[in-house]
Amino acid sequence: MRDCPECGGPVEARFHYCPWCSAPQRRKLVEFFRPHEELEGDQGKALRVSRYFGSSEPERHIRFSVWNETGSAEAAVSLDEEEAQRLARFILVHGPPKASRPRLLETVRGLAAGRRRG
Ligand SMILES: [Zn+2]
Repeated sequence: MRDCPECGGPVEARFHYCPWCSAPQRRKLVEFFRPHEELEGDQGKALRVSRYFGSSEPERHIRFSVWNETGSAEAAVSLDEEEAQRLARFILVHGPPKASRPRLLETVRGLAAGRRRG
């Protein structure tokens, strides 16, 4: 058990967010994204996205870095929250056309019938 840095409430170590004020309890979250499998030149690379939490700007930011097969970062850039949200919207809004996405009902029916999408 530790104290939430935001509200001082008791928080179990396994919790990622404070149950009292919902403040994030980690200093950062990291996620790796693999490259497109069929595009040459990207094999062995990875995109690492780190979200840094904090009580102020610029402590709070999102850092993007490109890692190569030797495990070192080739390039990196940090975005503030507003710009990162703009990136997220850009990817979502300009996603694949709806017609090419499997419809939820078809997916559920397929799963119910024991088929897997492929
Ligand atoms: Zn709290």
